[in-house]
Amino acid sequence: MQSYYQATRNFEINQPSLSGDYEADVCIIGGGYTGLSSALYLANEGLNVLLVESNKIASGASGANGGQVSGGMRKDQFYLEKAFGFEKAKALWSIGEEAKYHAKDLIDKYQIQCDYKKGIAHPNHKKRYCDESKRYVDHMIDKYDYKDMVYLDDSEMREVTGSDTYFGGSYDEGEAHCHPLNYALGIARAAISAGAKIFENSAVLDYKVENDFVKVQTQSGSIKADRVILACNGYLGNLEKRLTSKILPMNNYIVATKPLDEETVQKINPRDIAFADSRFVINYFRLSADKRLLFGGGENYSKNLSKNIVPIVTRPLEKIYPFLKGVKIDYAWGGKLAITMNRLPVFTMLHNEKVIAAQGYSGQGVALASYSGKIVSDKIIGNGDTFDIMSKIPRKSFPGGRFLRNPSMKIGMLYYSLLDRI
Ligand SMILES: Cc1cc2nc3c(=O)[nH]c(=O)nc-3n(C[C@H](O)[C@H](O)[C@H](O)COP(=O)(O)OP(=O)(O)OC[C@H]3O[C@@H](n4cnc5c(N)ncnc54)[C@H](O)[C@@H]3O)c2cc1C
Repeated sequence: MQSYYQATRNFEINQPSLSGDYEADVCIIGGGYTGLSSALYLANEGLNVLLVESNKIASGASGANGGQVSGGMRKDQFYLEKAFGFEKAKALWSIGEEAKYHAKDLIDKYQIQCDYKKGIAHPNHKKRYCDESKRYVDHMIDKYDYKDMVYLDDSEMREVTGSDTYFGGSYDEGEAHCHPLNYALGIARAAISAGAKIFENSAVLDYKVENDFVKVQTQSGSIKADRVILACNGYLGNLEKRLTSKILPMNNYIVATKPLDEETVQKINPRDIAFADSRFVINYFRLSADKRLLFGGGENYSKNLSKNIVPIVTRPLEKIYPFLKGVKIDYAWGGKLAITMNRLPVFTMLHNEKVIAAQGYSGQGVALASYSGKIVSDKIIGNGDTFDIMSKIPRKSFPGGRFLRNPSMKIGMLYYSLLDRI
């Protein structure tokens, strides 16, 4: 089944597949936000940029996600301060904030029509989490001078979510949501206009690092490049074995209901904002432009996406909105994200700095992955300040390393998802 986003995309990007031998200043592998924004920035700098994508542009997570344009990092400031100290935590917060504003700047500058709307609420599914949410809002005002976040009490949160399964939580007016595929296609179009060349349906089989270049090989062509950017995230597979133990691909799923009547819309989302709840396996939901409920939730670690997505996602949907039990589901789809042990992204240089990788956004990449194209490009053209901060984040391997990380993580994730229910 095609996704709601594919059915409502503004336009298609049709590019040839790689055939023959090419040379480039930079070869980018992967055509999601990371790769596309890298292509945009490097082409704007006048570099000869070639991007190769296995399938269609934004056929990975960038064209399939929940569209939530979040601030900060995937881990909150309490966690980051404890792990790294206040100054480093603040630097990471600032990068997350820049990423959020950068997404809006791209949308404005390139006139990307992607239904950008403000506001994400974070409702708690357990009463006992509310004190921490209140403390967090106060902390963000006091220590970060961040004034876009407020605390909503139980009844206010129930009013905005239309669900009495939730208690209070934070609401962040600085965060936003958008049509993620149209956002990606807009960046792709801007990159092509800036002079980047894109090849679709051109899976990279391998690359070899020689003394002063990297040779990238596809089935029917090759690219000899000074530098390679690895932008494959949850779809990396075994292409770069040095990274496989650091990230774990995870499948996550979304459904789109039929368009809802005005009364239901007013009941479940009168402010037309997005929601991401407090569960370990997060439920995230919002309305589409044509008033469908887009509901994401449910994940697994199988190699391929599930063929039976609807029951995986409607189970949590119907718990939150029992009155929507049996609602017609028009679209169901999924995508692969990449998580890391500490849920912070991996920015790194490999093979004598010939290969640069940015990935592992751990489910928070709409803003961050599209900003990482700028971070990586800046590094390549000689301004590596932000890249250097990101690359110093400690990176642990998953228990079991490259081969056993999946089974051991499955057990760990099962444990935490059980805690969600207690
Ligand atoms: C269901 C779902 C919901 C999500 N919801 C949110 C959300 O609401 N908010 C948020 O911030 N984040 C969300 N995320 C995460 C976010 O979508 C990702 O972090 C982000 O899209 C990563 O972008 P990327 O360009 O790094 O990777 P991707 O968009 O996955 O792109 C990687 C690309 O690399 C290509 N590729 C891989 N290997 C090769 C190869 N060998 N040769 C050529 N090409 C290759 C793939 O085909 C793919 O197109 C979600 C993810 C999923 C799956």
